[in-house]
Amino acid sequence: MTALLTTVLKEARALDREDPLQHFRERFEQPSGIVYLDGNSLGAMPCAAKSVMADAVNRQWSKDLIRSWNDNQWINAPKRIGAKISRLVGADPDEVIVADSVSVNIFKLLSAICRNRPNSKRIISEAGSFPTDAHVASGVADAMGLTLDLVPRSELLDHLDHQTAVLLLSHVHYKSGARFDMASVNVEAARHEIPVVWDLSHSTGAVPLHLHEDQTQYAVGCGYKYLNGGPGAPAFIFVRSDRQEALQAPLQGWMGHSAPFAFDDAYQPAAGMGRFLVGTPPILSLLALESGVDEFADVDMKQVWQKSRSLFQFLVGLMAKHCPQLKLMTPTDECQRGSHASFSSPDAWPINNALIARGIIGDFRTPDVLRFGLTPLYTGFEDIAHAVAVLNELLTTGVWNQPEYRKSAVVT
Ligand SMILES: *Cc1c(COP(=O)(O)O)cnc(C)c1O
Repeated sequence: MTALLTTVLKEARALDREDPLQHFRERFEQPSGIVYLDGNSLGAMPCAAKSVMADAVNRQWSKDLIRSWNDNQWINAPKRIGAKISRLVGADPDEVIVADSVSVNIFKLLSAICRNRPNSKRIISEAGSFPTDAHVASGVADAMGLTLDLVPRSELLDHLDHQTAVLLLSHVHYKSGARFDMASVNVEAARHEIPVVWDLSHSTGAVPLHLHEDQTQYAVGCGYKYLNGGPGAPAFIFVRSDRQEALQAPLQGWMGHSAPFAFDDAYQPAAGMGRFLVGTPPILSLLALESGVDEFADVDMKQVWQKSRSLFQFLVGLMAKHCPQLKLMTPTDECQRGSHASFSSPDAWPINNALIARGIIGDFRTPDVLRFGLTPLYTGFEDIAHAVAVLNELLTTGVWNQPEYRKSAVVT
């Protein structure tokens, strides 16, 4: 053990002992020899997921078969899990439904909203944000004869005008970790009567969300990041109750029909959020997601955010002292950031690979960003102590600078 690790571990263990959420850590799989700081990209596996999946496979699918749609409540899973998520985002149970991916849900919301705004000319979103948002918005704009304006963050609000159909924003920036002030953006957009669609992918399950209080009307969010729903877990959609009936689903599938088993030729949308379902939901994935969401059942989200703040301060303090070569990109003001910390370095790619080779799993975002996700339910202060000590050693010895760490990969 290095001298540095000995010192920082002492402090870290004291912080872990005082942590009111400490007991949640054992509810998630902890592979030995791994410090996992990438739960903002793929959440850790809840231990309960194993028995949930075993039951889904060994009983529900194999024995109960098609009867499970009724007997095991498969048919209600999208609404049931949506209702559980609603508490975490400050919404009502009938305002959230789980369906499809974030990308598809953005398509559904943007298309439905733009359809109701025939005199508008453009969709506005942020330049350099998570690309799926811009890609989907560009497809919707093409299909509806609109333009898409991708605007730098600092100029966004100046671009809003009466010709804007909708503003699409990612609440927490995937790269920098910068967070919009949702309430004030909503107020500013409302002054121009512009609806805002919020992408909560990097917020839900970590960052404070008060959709009602902040006057939010539309949002989507991700199941496999801080909600720990498993790889490719279904996503969710939120529409405030007073906006639901006005939206016509652009993908009119039978599962979004008011009576799917009436097998009518004519489409009749389900009341409320049900209309945002399209085809048969992926039950195995939904049940895995539910096991992740259920871990939050008794959690005070204020404590979650408090822990994220403490983890951030601990990490950033240690990094400034022991790894000053890496420059913090994430705003330090807690109201202006999410739950990951990003550092820039021209050597971020090989440094990240050298870290992974030593069991410290963060991630890299092109061209020069190292990200460390702080997932309050299972990240410990000790994890951070280990990560910084290893990083310090890599940087002081220069061992990250080897050809094997410069090899490219398909997924980063
Ligand atoms: C992770 C993420 C997504 C994921 O989209 P999928 O369609 O579910 O793959 C979307 N938007 C943002 C901002 C994200 O961070």
